[in-house]
Amino acid sequence: MVKKGLSVGVVGAGIGGLTAATLLLRKGFDVTVFEKEAFVGGRALSFDPSSQDLAEYRNLLSKFNMSLPFSEPDWDTILSKKLLSGYTLDLGFHAIGGGAASNINQVFSELKDHVDMLESKLGYIMEQDFNYPFLSMFDKIRILPDILHLVLSGESTMKKLDNVSMMETIERYGKGKMRLVLEVFSRVITTVNDLSRISTGETFRSLKNLLSGSNPVGYPVGGLKSISLKLADFIRQNGGIIRLNTPVKKIVVDENRVKGVLTDEGEQGFDVVVSNVLVQNLFKFVDKKSFPDSYVNNVESLTGTGSLCAYYSLDKVDPRLIGKTFLFIERGVGVEGDDAVGMIDFMTASPYSGLAPEHGFLVQSYVICTPDEAKNKEVLLRLREVLDKNLWRLIPDFRERLRWAVYPAVWHLDGVAKTIDNVKPGVKTPVNGLYLVGDCVKAPGIGVNCAVNSARMLQTML
Ligand SMILES: Cc1cc2nc3c(=O)[nH]c(=O)nc-3n(C[C@H](O)[C@H](O)[C@H](O)COP(=O)(O)OP(=O)(O)OC[C@H]3O[C@@H](n4cnc5c(N)ncnc54)[C@H](O)[C@@H]3O)c2cc1C
Repeated sequence: MVKKGLSVGVVGAGIGGLTAATLLLRKGFDVTVFEKEAFVGGRALSFDPSSQDLAEYRNLLSKFNMSLPFSEPDWDTILSKKLLSGYTLDLGFHAIGGGAASNINQVFSELKDHVDMLESKLGYIMEQDFNYPFLSMFDKIRILPDILHLVLSGESTMKKLDNVSMMETIERYGKGKMRLVLEVFSRVITTVNDLSRISTGETFRSLKNLLSGSNPVGYPVGGLKSISLKLADFIRQNGGIIRLNTPVKKIVVDENRVKGVLTDEGEQGFDVVVSNVLVQNLFKFVDKKSFPDSYVNNVESLTGTGSLCAYYSLDKVDPRLIGKTFLFIERGVGVEGDDAVGMIDFMTASPYSGLAPEHGFLVQSYVICTPDEAKNKEVLLRLREVLDKNLWRLIPDFRERLRWAVYPAVWHLDGVAKTIDNVKPGVKTPVNGLYLVGDCVKAPGIGVNCAVNSARMLQTML
């Protein structure tokens, strides 16, 4: 470990901020993390009703751009009968994309540690049955040669395809099962339903990433909090400081160089400041005048992704489903892009997930929508039907098996959607000493992977 002696202030203890703090501590920097909430993890947070007040759950959702439009039974009954006792719930559906860009355990291996992950291939839900995995060996032999030259092509070809929409690519290559693969995977890779916004380059990069490394999806045993708590432990045990309940009010910049951060306790000087807040909120903390107009205009125009999630607790699940994850596409739902793609995941139903009491099976699911649709009750009602219908296709008697269901809606699942119309900012900003990490930043993967990879990129820059 080389002691560099520079001081770093990290604003936000989400996965991106915690990973950056961990990696920079390893490099010998003095690191202080400022977190406005009383806990670490940001959007990668698991709620545990045995140690947290269940009444706080809705409040917690609202802090992270979420609401709870539906539940079964109603929320008051869930509270009064303590139906969630013994379960751990993430803020909403979480499965971490796999393949070569899934890097959280590469970070932990540097710390001689790891997070236990459940992994699954992706299956596909049909009208009355399912395929697992999605593509049989026969399918692969038949259809892959059509696109293999694209999937395996180099970065220069991918770059040329960056501005070609999946709508165009599907019209060109999409026949039979290949069409289905491209329609479903491009949407699930980006959490966007509108094929005209999805980049072909990005889709093929992600498909290429899935050809090596872990299975296509993974889920941390014990929930998402397992990752953030482990990172926070490492930071605290290695001389880093995490200041909870300490919102940063301002990132102080002077003559195009970062100077430090301002909190209620006054100004604290840092050589480097790393922002992990939603990038659209950056100019609440830093004076716009420190940045070129084009940078400000771009950042302010960026949009996130949304979804309706559902957590179902069932008293019985077909053993053939346990541990597996399934995709579906529902046609003509009337959302942006018309068709809606989603996932139903039984990794959390595995007894090894550690998320449900004995004899309880937790199933998590989500269906993609836009941030605006995630705030529209009429659209959400239709999406709830879509989720229930697809669970019913897998478990025809699920209503008789249901103990409870909660349906959180989210309008900032990804901080910034990875689409043709959104150009994510890089890790380095135009202000000297100010860097960005998190899922709003240009880095491989989306969601958790993007946040982790952005921190790994920062590590190489300092
Ligand atoms: C419901 C839901 C489902 C998701 N599903 C998936 C999934 O299936 N797969 C996947 O890979 N990703 C998923 N994501 C996205 C994933 O959770 C995020 O990409 C990931 O948590 C990375 O977040 P981050 O580090 O960019 O920042 P965040 O988690 O947003 O952390 C930012 C932190 O900054 C803090 N903060 C903000 N302002 C201040 C301030 N002024 N001062 C101090 N601190 C501040 C916040 O409190 C927060 O802790 C999902 C997200 C949600 C909400």
